[in-house]
Amino acid sequence: MLALAARRMGYRFAVLSPEPGSPAGQVSDREVVAPYDDLDAVRRLAAEADVVTVEFENVPAAALAAAAELAPVHPAPEVLAIAQHRLREKSWLAAHGFPTPAFRRVAAAADLDPALAEVGLPGLLKTAGFGYDGKGQRPVADAGEAAAAWQELGGGEAIYERRVAFRAELSVVAVRSAEGDFAAYGPIANRHEGGILDLSVLPAGLPAPLAREAVDLARAIAEALGFVGVLCVELFWDEDGSLLVNELAPRPHNSGHLTIEAALTSQFEQQLRAVCALPLGDPAPRAPAAMANLLGDLWWTGARPEGLPREPDWAAALRRSDVHLHLYGKAEPRRGRKMGHLTALAADPAAARALALAARQCVTGGSR
Ligand code: AMP
Repeated sequence: MLALAARRMGYRFAVLSPEPGSPAGQVSDREVVAPYDDLDAVRRLAAEADVVTVEFENVPAAALAAAAELAPVHPAPEVLAIAQHRLREKSWLAAHGFPTPAFRRVAAAADLDPALAEVGLPGLLKTAGFGYDGKGQRPVADAGEAAAAWQELGGGEAIYERRVAFRAELSVVAVRSAEGDFAAYGPIANRHEGGILDLSVLPAGLPAPLAREAVDLARAIAEALGFVGVLCVELFWDEDGSLLVNELAPRPHNSGHLTIEAALTSQFEQQLRAVCALPLGDPAPRAPAAMANLLGDLWWTGARPEGLPREPDWAAALRRSDVHLHLYGKAEPRRGRKMGHLTALAADPAAARALALAARQCVTGGSR
């Protein structure tokens, strides 16, 4: 989606991808196929680039440093280093006075008991590095589960945090330029299934002061990081009414995909504008919108739940007006894999939500 926005704006686009024929590679001028830690390949890419950015934060620091020798990298490698490591991220947020769920570092089995005592139960144990979409995390209800969870996660550095009994999960998709200009979408209301984003709705329908507080929080975080580009701040709206930061995504985010149809400027165009030192675009809404993710599971849902995967009936969704289909061109459907999404626009957020869900249901032969 970033490459498509870039091509539309007249940019040439080159992508480094570990697998040939990646979604971005299919629509780019050039695809360098190499692992993220192949520094020669990273240098080949950066040598012909005016600017380098990422759409995935877990690019190794050495690769970002190699790119930065040859071209500006936005967001900055030091900022990506914070966002790609849960413990560094939460520690940075806490040190700068931003609210997070209570957490504690777990580096050895002996740290588990003090962590549980300090943070409380129930909680979640998460690997410190390389986690997204609920990967690398386990629920913890008691001390026995904590020990088992730590083993299951490989016994490496981890973070134990309080399970938040949230009223809602929210995100603010923010963008900041090198000059400090700022724009934001949201808050967006997000629903997750099994740790994976399932549904996003914009606007979230929150009381205006809370919505302002969420955007102000995102702005303050972007400022404190000196961020350049799109930054998604994922939030919990806690049962006591407060906002807590769950995670920072230093890139265009799945919850912002609906901005392609729902806003005057999409999050992808904003990313390009920010990293290419252009003026930021207007994030104002066109219409209330909802986005339903299309996971690989859909290929097995419906009449034949077992056996060979079956292509969902996309035409069934497209029969409805103001439903927009995005398929990413991933070769193989897999359970839990994000294959695409549907965005629905409607007169109000509840109607957009119902339309997106109905459109998704009908692609597997559900009611039309
Ligand atoms: P993460 O990969 O850390 O963003 O977590 C994925 C999802 O797991 C979140 O969007 C929440 O739905 C859930 N989750 C993660 N951390 C917590 C927490 N501390 N309390 C409650 N739910 C959580």
